[in-house]
Amino acid sequence: MFAKLNLFQSARLKLTAWYILTIGIILFIFSTVIYQIVVEDMKREFHRLYMMQKFDVKIPRGNVPPPIQGLMQGFETGLDEEYLTEFNQAKNEWKLKLFMINGLILLIAGGSAYILAGKNLKPIEEMTEKQKNFIADASHELRTPLTSLKTAIEVNLRAKKIEEKEFRKILADNLEDINALQKLTNYLLDLTKVDNINLTFEDLNLKDLIQKVVDKFMPIAIKKKLTISTKLKNVFLTADKLKLEQLISILLDNAIKYTGKNGKIWIELTTNKKYVYLKIKDNGIGIEKENLKKIFDRFYRAEQSRTSKGFGLGLAIAANIVESHHGKIEVQSEPGKGSEFIVKLRK
Ligand code: ADP
Repeated sequence: MFAKLNLFQSARLKLTAWYILTIGIILFIFSTVIYQIVVEDMKREFHRLYMMQKFDVKIPRGNVPPPIQGLMQGFETGLDEEYLTEFNQAKNEWKLKLFMINGLILLIAGGSAYILAGKNLKPIEEMTEKQKNFIADASHELRTPLTSLKTAIEVNLRAKKIEEKEFRKILADNLEDINALQKLTNYLLDLTKVDNINLTFEDLNLKDLIQKVVDKFMPIAIKKKLTISTKLKNVFLTADKLKLEQLISILLDNAIKYTGKNGKIWIELTTNKKYVYLKIKDNGIGIEKENLKKIFDRFYRAEQSRTSKGFGLGLAIAANIVESHHGKIEVQSEPGKGSEFIVKLRK
């Protein structure tokens, strides 16, 4: 926390310093020009007054006759001591005035620059904080299967003799951990890929794609004695096929995961003039109202689903896929009754 504060504080100060430096240079150039103009003006005026007094003539203001203009080249030597002192005093007064005005401007600009720098850095600070949390969460999730893998290997290496049956069981457990690691790394990679919007658009029939995913999940559904009913119509879209397949898989996988034995899942695909609506509904465990907003966050898992083998990344990826297709994803759910995920895509 302290290091983070320092990092952003120093970045803010550096940015403020750059702003002040830029404003300072502009002010310096301006003031020098203004000072030169003022001094030239004063020279003329002092000379006019000096000549008027010395020769007792009347010279109109701002009007210095040519011979006197010539004299102005050697201005400082052409005046009496008294005039020169007054002239230098006036010059110094101007210097002081400009110095004070510039100081005041720099002070105000400095304060504003500090506020502005803070505002400009805020999104970067938030993004860094999010990234840090993401890395922390990802490392935490990676550590669990890694630790279990390490412990299993260490313990079994110490054993003097292992029966073949037991040996196979150990390998199967190890494989499960490796599968979890592989799934997690794939998920993490997916998250960064969709973030970068690396999409390949092609024409597809969404109905066929949904059917393909349903067929893929059917064996798991049958094993859990779940029924999947579909009501699909032909919908032709231009989209990233692999990403949409992944989106449907995530939603269907969740529906299966969070629905108890003998439960039901409904999949419906409808359209109107502008939009396509994909609805995946189940009569599973449902989601508490206060968790509904959080389920799309990375690594979020509702309390009652902590025991499942998920990482809490599926819906974050789903939301990214929908967003990259300029669509919307919504959820309606009631604990104990079931959930419905609705994806709205532009035709
Ligand atoms: P996970 O890998 O945990 O399934 P997801 O990002 O896919 O991660 O889902 C986040 C959380 O949202 C899940 O842990 C679960 O609590 C809740 N959830 C998602 N889909 C459903 C569903 N169909 N029914 C009930 N809860 C769900």
